[in-house]
Amino acid sequence: MRIVVTGGAGFVGSHLCERLLAEGHTVVAIDNLITGSVDNIAHLRDPRFEFIHHDVSKSIYLAGPVDFVFHLASPASPVDYLEYPIQTLKVGSLGTHNALGLAKEKRAGLLFASTSEVYGDPDVNPQPESYHGNVSTTGLRGCYDEAKRFGEALVMAYHRQHRLSTRIVRIFNTYGPRMRLNDGRVVPQFIGQALRGEDLTVYGDGHQTRSFCYVDDTVDGIWRLANWVGDAVVGPGGQVLRDEAMPVNIGNPEERTIRQFAEEILHLVGSRSQLTFRPCPTDNDPMQRRPDISRAREKLGWEPRVPFAEGMQRTIEDLRNRLAL
Ligand code: NAD
Ligand code: UDP
Repeated sequence: MRIVVTGGAGFVGSHLCERLLAEGHTVVAIDNLITGSVDNIAHLRDPRFEFIHHDVSKSIYLAGPVDFVFHLASPASPVDYLEYPIQTLKVGSLGTHNALGLAKEKRAGLLFASTSEVYGDPDVNPQPESYHGNVSTTGLRGCYDEAKRFGEALVMAYHRQHRLSTRIVRIFNTYGPRMRLNDGRVVPQFIGQALRGEDLTVYGDGHQTRSFCYVDDTVDGIWRLANWVGDAVVGPGGQVLRDEAMPVNIGNPEERTIRQFAEEILHLVGSRSQLTFRPCPTDNDPMQRRPDISRAREKLGWEPRVPFAEGMQRTIEDLRNRLAL
């Protein structure tokens, strides 16, 4: 197949491109490098791999056939989307529209990378796909959360109206090699601080929880979802939909507090840094986040395989090497 990956020079996108090449496909990565880097794909020297520097919030023209579009383009770290709120809203809305337009034109399938952030600061834990969320439209995270919620609605509209073959994956906190050292997400932030011997900056009281999934597991879930052809199901209003078009959570249900996570990082790095408590730079920091992965287990036969300590050691090694450079 010839497969397009928007956001292909980003953290998850670059691992997905690698997996698609390993599966024997031809890959076109489209990325404007706003938060990604060509360093992430420099090793993909393969005649079946092509990189196009383009902002997908503007029309996408591509010659030749396309069989599938993975739409991953979007800033994803709170620090990034606070810096680029308008670009984040544009790529989730206009960018998703353009990616859907490309898929429709080429009669290709499309998978949209959504997020656990559509659940906002959830009042149910763990979060099943049926939970409708608790998002503030006007809060600092709103530019990301609402763009992704709009994106999901648009994908469903294309599925309903144009019968496009679509998938929506709700990705929970994913970590691994190639995360940007300064992207502000808690994993590279704590590891970088521990490696440099600086204090680890815990926001709030550190009682908020997250559930961390290793990138290879996330990519495997995404790939399985793209390949899943389910049954017809009756959706809201009695309309018949494809089961595979309805959202699927992909994440690791192992939940820990941020304070506990900081202590584990100190231990894994072997660092004598201290914890320091700071106010959270965003409002509405979700207090709990843990995926209910029953649907992924049942429909995709998927669950995370890489243990926390192993995934973190691989990530620490990668960040250590890059810090040394
Ligand atoms: P990332 O920032 O490393 O990658 C995103 C990529 O998209 C970057 O390479 C960036 O340059 C590119 N991009 C952004 N706007 C673009 C535009 N207008 N045109 C073209 N390219 C553009 O982030 P990531 O962690 O790899 O996230 C990838 C996707 O997965 C995002 O859609 C994100 O919302 C979703 N996601 C990730 C996580 C996670 O924990 N990593 C969790 C939930 C959802
Ligand atoms: N966090 C923290 N210190 C940091 C960075 C993040 O305590 O230096 C916390 C943040 O407040 C949140 C959690 O870690 O509760 C995860 O943050 P991240 O930015 O990785 O992503 P989020 O899950 O909030 O989108």
